[in-house]
This record gives sequence, structure tokens and C-alpha cells, in this order.
Amino acid sequence: MIPFNKPPFVGSEKQHILDVLGSGKISGDGAFGHRCQNWFIDTLGAVKTLLTPSCTHALEMAALLIDVQAGDEIIMPSYTFVSTANAFVLRGAKIVFVDIDPSTMNINADLIEAAITERTKAIVPVHYAGVGCDMDKIMQLAEQYQLFVIEDAAQGMMSRFKGKMLGTIGHLGAYSFHETKNYTSGGEGGLLIINDSRFIERAEIIREKGTNRSQFFRGMVDKYTWTDVGSSYLPSELQCAYLWGQLENAELINQDRLSSWQRYASQLCDLETQGHIVCPHIPHDCMHNAHMFYIKVADLAQRTALLDFLKEKQIGAVFHYVPLHSSPFGMQHCRFISEDQFTTQESEKLIRLPLWYGISTKEIDHICNTICEYFNKT
Ligand SMILES: *Cc1c(COP(=O)(O)O)cnc(C)c1O
Repeated sequence: MIPFNKPPFVGSEKQHILDVLGSGKISGDGAFGHRCQNWFIDTLGAVKTLLTPSCTHALEMAALLIDVQAGDEIIMPSYTFVSTANAFVLRGAKIVFVDIDPSTMNINADLIEAAITERTKAIVPVHYAGVGCDMDKIMQLAEQYQLFVIEDAAQGMMSRFKGKMLGTIGHLGAYSFHETKNYTSGGEGGLLIINDSRFIERAEIIREKGTNRSQFFRGMVDKYTWTDVGSSYLPSELQCAYLWGQLENAELINQDRLSSWQRYASQLCDLETQGHIVCPHIPHDCMHNAHMFYIKVADLAQRTALLDFLKEKQIGAVFHYVPLHSSPFGMQHCRFISEDQFTTQESEKLIRLPLWYGISTKEIDHICNTICEYFNKT
């Protein structure tokens, strides 16, 4: 069986975890946590980065930081993971969905302006498959209408748009270190990226249960106390130790994934030329991180048949997302602006192929040959 995913593991994570166990401190914001956060500040050029237990939590922090009020409207694509929307629904927001661009599966930035009202508070672009949205257009709209931009860059670590790292272009950004992403902090984890210094102080307080404990530890105040709303948004040192092993090897992991992605692209290009499938398109302005290799087939029936065929051949291909506006909860709390021209139709065609750090060329070739076999027999 070729699994869909294997959690990234380089080897050095093990020793780092043992070091934490021997250190007598395993709670959050320890040595590895600080080391990871500094690595991100250096690598991203962000003003502040805060590790969180998940990307979901980083998005929840973002919603608190921009002070979302009941009835505020948040613009995003419907083709995304549930947390993109939930973080804002938790604060009472109304979610406004805009159609995607079928060539990238990202929000179509040209459709955003028509969705803006006087209640609009923020735009949340999702960089699907680690391929950047049209951030020039989105930032220009945000400036014109005084909106916040929160980048859901859960899949986007190490990717760039016009040379800028994803997650560093909007006011706030969020990464995920879930085991299915390119880098993991031991299964679950995330990062809040702060690009606007106005948010730094309050972000630290919200993350520390609404207290000014971070300032206390830095000697800036002489006691710590409850000053704001908040929650516990710190990962443990054990998670940070795992993540540090990945960050030390970030380029190794990136290059390995990129070469696997390239191999898929070159092995499957004949099927694309023959019109059987569509492969991912990387716009000129984007440098991607090979988060995902997907193919799109003719329709839902063909996707189901091909997934069954691959399963029979022991290949763990999968599909996702059911568009949020068609989900039971989404139907109550969200609305789709204008026409759903591509979101539903394109989501039904998409298949994600196995891709992880260390997948062999032999495995990729076998998967590609099996897909060719399917199209040759039908
Ligand atoms: C994975 C993912 C998330 C959630 O990440 P967690 O770390 O599991 O909370 C959010 N948005 C997108 C687009 C994702 O792919």
C-alpha cells in the first residue's frame, strides 16, 4: 500500500525531544519555542511570530486581534478547510464566499470587490496547495476599503508571491504544522505571523490567557495580571523540539518535495496533452513549495471511478474539500456572493496524489503508470 501521507521526519527531531525531556521544562515558550520563533522572524522578515497549537488557533487569534464583532462580514473562498471560516464564525461573523479561479483553485481576486459592503471587516485569502493568491490585487482592495487581510497560509510555508514569503503580505498570516503539511511539530501545530506591529502586544496577551505574563517574563512589568480576553494558545516544548528538527532541514524537505512534484508533472504531462486530466498550474508570480500534487479529471463520476481503481491498486489517493457553502453549518452561517461557477464543479474533479518527504521515484512512477493504465483501458 502506498499511503496518501507520511508525517515528515528527518531524524534530528528525536534527539531534540530527548533534550527537552532531560531539561525539566516541557511547557510552552521554552528554549526550542524561542529558537523556532526566531528562525521564522529571520526567514520571513515578520515583525513577530508566535507558535500556536494549530493553524486553527492561529486563525482564532487573528479573529480576536482584528476585533471581529457580531455581524461583521469576512470574505473568503468556499473551497477551503473548515477552520478558515470557523475562526470568524466563533466571533459572530457572517462569512461571505467568493468563487475561485479554476486554474489555481484560489479565490478569484477580481470578484472580491463586488462582495465588499460597509460591514466587511477582512479578506481571508487561502493559498491553496501553497500557491499564492493574487496578493497585489487583494492588498490594494484592503487599502482602498480599509479592510484587514489575514492569509490562511496553512499550506504555504516556504512558498513565495513576487518574492515575498506567503503569510508575510497581509496584516496577519497563519501556518499549519499538522502532520499532513510540509513541516510538522509532531502531529499538530501552527504559527501566527504578525506583519503589523500594532498587533504584537495584544497577541502575546491573548495567547497567555489574557494576561501580561510575556511582559512579566521580559521584566517589563513587575507583576502579571489579567488584562484582556484570551485563551491558552501555546504549544508544548516537545512540539517545538520536533519542529526545530524540521526547520534545521527546511530546505532539504523543500527540495525533496519539489523534485517529487516535478516527477509527477513530467510523468503525467502526456495525459494532460491528451486531454484526460488537468495538472496544477503555477502562475508566473508564484514560487511554490510542492505542498500538493493534484490532478483534475472530467467530472465526479470519473473521479469516483479513478479513486476506486487506485484503491484497488493499493494507492492512497484522496479528494477534498466539500465546498463550505454546501455544508449543513455553512448553509446557515454563510452566503455565496454571485454565481458558483467553478467552486462546486472544480472541487468535484480534484484528486490529491500521495506526496510526502521521502516518497521514492519508484513509488511516483508506479502511481503515474497506474493512472495511465486507467485512462488507456477506458
Ligand atoms: C490544514 C489547514 C488548516 C488547519 O490547520 P490545523 O493546523 O490542522 O488547525 C486551515 N486552513 C487550511 C487551508 C489548511 O489546509
